[in-house]
Amino acid sequence: MGYRTATFNVAWQDDDVDFYHRVVDAVSRNFGVKASGLWQPSHNPVFAFHTRYSMTHPKAKTGEMVKVTVSFYHDRTGWPLEVTSFSIAEYAPPKPPPAPVPATPPPPPPVEWKLTVYEAEGSGFFGFSSLKVKLRLPGGAEAWYTTNLFGEIYLKEPAITAGKVDIVDVLDDGGTPNIPYSSFARAGFPTGGKYVIRVPNKRKVIDNVITTAGVFPRVVYGKKTPNYSKMDLDWDYEIVTLHHSGNSGEQDPAKIEAEHMGSKGYDDVGYHYMVNLKGRIYEGRNLAFKGSHVELANTGKIGILVMGDFEHQWWDSDDDPTKVQLDSVKSLIKTLMASFPTIKKLGGHKDYKPSTECPGEELYKLIPGIRGDVGLSGP
Ligand SMILES: [Zn+2]
Repeated sequence: MGYRTATFNVAWQDDDVDFYHRVVDAVSRNFGVKASGLWQPSHNPVFAFHTRYSMTHPKAKTGEMVKVTVSFYHDRTGWPLEVTSFSIAEYAPPKPPPAPVPATPPPPPPVEWKLTVYEAEGSGFFGFSSLKVKLRLPGGAEAWYTTNLFGEIYLKEPAITAGKVDIVDVLDDGGTPNIPYSSFARAGFPTGGKYVIRVPNKRKVIDNVITTAGVFPRVVYGKKTPNYSKMDLDWDYEIVTLHHSGNSGEQDPAKIEAEHMGSKGYDDVGYHYMVNLKGRIYEGRNLAFKGSHVELANTGKIGILVMGDFEHQWWDSDDDPTKVQLDSVKSLIKTLMASFPTIKKLGGHKDYKPSTECPGEELYKLIPGIRGDVGLSGP
């Protein structure tokens, strides 16, 4: 701490009482004190003038005597003269600057976790909010979360804590049946990250096949509700398998449904599609679910029933599939191939189960030609 210094430019004349007041005012104003006793009556130069004058004093406490020196040049002698002490009646020392606030470390960033679910087929979103993802949060609790319209699930404290998140299941409940995607379980996504998973939009693919190939959906003829909860999922299709109706030559998909879900005790129609002699294509089992059409070997196979009895009978000259029927079968297969690039093969039932006569020798003979037309290889 040093001295505060003020410089005044004051024109004054000795014995001028106004000078006294001006000095007192200046000291009071510039030094934060109420000054008094500054007047020095012994100093009485009759013709003294000055134009410059300065004073200093310590930051005195109340009641301290402070000496103020006034120097000026006498117009004739240049002697420095002195103004005597004066008392400080009141002094408010300047407040010390506030103590610096100790720096507090910034709070840690909140724990958060973000998942975006895209369609596997493209780069886009599922585009609906009915996609649900079951998560196992740090700590082990499991719960279903629904994506927003952009396929996102965003969690932050306190809903989530530090640790890892497991994706337990994905469910598209936007249609009937609901399509579970438990095969897309993924474990160990640390919190604090943003993640993307791609899930096939099965509903969209199935609907696209129906629309593109002109398939009559199950609701058109179906009378029974499949037991979806008991059925296995399948989606990695590699083989299309053709069947025939056999002796009945059955043309009514509802009767196939009744037989399969009745006397045969299946959870659903065994075939994924059925094509009648007029070329009409019916939806059978939802394609998200594994078929029941090749005993013990259904995985990866799309089952198509070509409706009719194509086993050669000596008494029956009419045991061939119709052209319009085969055209529909080929159109359906091509549509499926477009949706499932994994499909490489076309075969008849007996290719995968030698003990059966299905799909009848007249249809079986035609299968190589169908393969050539659609561009698939042998069984
Ligand atoms: Zn068969």
